[in-house]
Amino acid sequence: MVMDFLAPSEPNPKKNASAPWKILIVDDDPDVHEVTKIAVGGYEFEDRPFELLHALSAHEARQILVEHEDVAVALVDVVMESDTAGLGLVGWIRSELGNHFTRLILRTGQPGYAPQTDVIMKFDIDGYTEKAELSRTKLITAIVTALRGYKLVTSLESNRKKLKQLNAHFSEIVEQNAIQEFASTALRNFSELVGQPVDALLCGLEVVPEYGTFDKSSMRVLAATGNLEDKVDLPVDVIGDEGIRTSIASCIETQSQCVWDQGVALPLVTRNEMAGALYLGISEERLENLVGTEVVQLFVSNVALGYAKTGLMEHIRNLAYVDRVTGLSTFSGFLEAFQRHAGGRSPLLVVHLDLQRFRVIVDGIGDEKAGAVLKKAGHRISQTFPDALTIARKERDEFLLLLRGGEDNKIQDVVARVEDAFQEPIALDENQINLRLRLGFAAAADNENLSAEQLVRHASIALNDVRQKGLTNHAIFHPLMQEAAFERLRLASLLTGGANQTEMSAHYQPIMRAEDESIASFEALMRFKTSSGNFLNTARMIEAAEASGLITEIGAWMFKTAFVEFSELEGISSDVGLNVNLSPRQVQTNRIYKDIEDAASAADLPLSRLVFEVTEGLYISNDQITLSLLTWLRNKGAKIVIDDFGTGYSSFSYLRKLPVDGIKIDRSFIMNMDQDPDALAVVKSIIAVAQALDLSVTAEGVETVAQRKIMQELGCDLLQGFLYSKPQSREDLAAFIQKVEEPGRVFG
Ligand code: C2E
Ligand code: CA
Ligand code: CA
Repeated sequence: MVMDFLAPSEPNPKKNASAPWKILIVDDDPDVHEVTKIAVGGYEFEDRPFELLHALSAHEARQILVEHEDVAVALVDVVMESDTAGLGLVGWIRSELGNHFTRLILRTGQPGYAPQTDVIMKFDIDGYTEKAELSRTKLITAIVTALRGYKLVTSLESNRKKLKQLNAHFSEIVEQNAIQEFASTALRNFSELVGQPVDALLCGLEVVPEYGTFDKSSMRVLAATGNLEDKVDLPVDVIGDEGIRTSIASCIETQSQCVWDQGVALPLVTRNEMAGALYLGISEERLENLVGTEVVQLFVSNVALGYAKTGLMEHIRNLAYVDRVTGLSTFSGFLEAFQRHAGGRSPLLVVHLDLQRFRVIVDGIGDEKAGAVLKKAGHRISQTFPDALTIARKERDEFLLLLRGGEDNKIQDVVARVEDAFQEPIALDENQINLRLRLGFAAAADNENLSAEQLVRHASIALNDVRQKGLTNHAIFHPLMQEAAFERLRLASLLTGGANQTEMSAHYQPIMRAEDESIASFEALMRFKTSSGNFLNTARMIEAAEASGLITEIGAWMFKTAFVEFSELEGISSDVGLNVNLSPRQVQTNRIYKDIEDAASAADLPLSRLVFEVTEGLYISNDQITLSLLTWLRNKGAKIVIDDFGTGYSSFSYLRKLPVDGIKIDRSFIMNMDQDPDALAVVKSIIAVAQALDLSVTAEGVETVAQRKIMQELGCDLLQGFLYSKPQSREDLAAFIQKVEEPGRVFG
């Protein structure tokens, strides 16, 4: 019987290096081990040989099973140390060891020792044989059947594991928001899934294309691993290996799997237009062996989902970061670029540009064409600044440029480049549109750690300065500008009203006749008092009002208030005048005629009692609007004097030809006269010329008796300054007027 085991049969001569199937023989009879060895020796199943492990007791078997997790089949003798040692072992394998894969075949020497069927059910046993029955053929058959079972359960298990892994990968893949990260995560996961490095490419687009603009040539290798790593970033068209290139191309084209002898290209099918492919540099057969088709399919559809989502994210990011009109960056994109470049070696320079009179262009050609102009202007700017770190459109006709370096010559260079670039008009249909740009600069000094927003705000303040002054086409941010901007804001809120507002009032400073120190007139000066009772700096507030255009309103208020208050002053004779200041911008509006006339008639004040103080600049500009106004005022009997004389152009030639009655020598000359011979010389010559031209001369800022004396000696007509009185409110003025009338009063 035992001999039957040894019956000759064709030995399988094939040698194979693949991992053997481990088969454990558990039997307390050494002969059984010997016989089994001879019976199955040299056999293979699916190109894998058998490797026999031997245990002479259930106890030994346990040790072996703990050491070898991958025992495929165990042939277990039922009766060993005890009658039930074999069954005990089986129970232990399944329950305690938790091994559900090893296939179990029970053997018994004596018929009648068949285990209960419930044991077979309970412990997942593959066979039950009597030793006596086991011919070589039967034994091999039993083992091979068990091996098939083993293969099935293990592959199910590995699929289960892979599915679990896929699930984990899926969440990792779809979590990626940037396409590059997404692609490399997907490939890394694939290698993990396969359990070994894979030569792979993930090809596709970076972003969902605009509807209908899908272009195959923009397909790129988004990520690459293994031997294909050097292909990353290459356009698919440019991949050198023809087999790879064509299989990917036709996979994308046909949206179906493409196989060639060295690899497989799998389509990433999406619902948006994110076409793509996963290329694996392994044969289809090997892929099947490694992971199985279903797992690969599942993996690829996960990747496709992630890919579609990531493309959409990129698209949304583009919407936020790419300006639709010009294709330049948006403000958000600009801020992001700034973050990226901040902290570099050289400081960053922010340039805020806008187009002069763009509103007029829009009115002339309409919004749509204005968009085209903006686009062309943006294009020209980007061509002019290939060195820009980023170029953005901020809003309407405003652009932002981020450059390196903040030195003066850099700024001059930027200005020159812009001027040069916009020398040529922009052609739009048959129109030739000339664009002039204004530029505001702000640079962060080395030690300053300004945020993008702060620097942009500074550049905008500088640009605003350019807009308001209109003198140059560019300005560099200076902290004083910010103060001015703040004052403009305060001023604006002042005029629009509201609680807690700053109060405007008029103060008056007397101007005295030099010969007898009697009152010649009062100069009305603006005062701004905050709710906390402080006075703001008048000169700066006026400058801010001038810059913002609010001066027209403020000026009108001043006329009304000062004319009324002045006309109600008691104790002054009717030849005392009222001086009011006119700033350049005020003079440019048509409403000034009406404002003056209305105020004068409301106060019942003849214009002949008024003296208007203007600055030299008005005369230099020599424009018709100013000349008409000044001429009109003089015809109505008012006088015109030039304020702050000597600080500006100091050209006497225009005085001869223009409507002027007098000059006020600037305070700075009067102040320095007693120490500085040059200042004294200037004062002397001014007075000489003025006298020659028959103009009255007022000295501003007379503070000391010495200054008064000099001016009196030089034949100056009028004196104004703290020596007599500070500017004061109408109420406080009464005391001064009274004092002037007192016999024997002295000033200083
Ligand atoms: P301004 O027209 O040159 O006015 C003279 C300035 O010198 C006044 O400053 C006055 O307070 C100051 N001042 C007068 N005497 C002396 C003196 O002896 N010593 C010194 N240190 N200063 C003296 P304020 O009132 O601050 O006005 C500044 C400027 O604001 C004015 O310069 C004028 O250009 C402008 N301004 C004031 N009110 C008005 C207004 O209603 N309309 C316009 N357009 N400008 C105004
Ligand atoms: Ca003045
Ligand atoms: Ca002055």
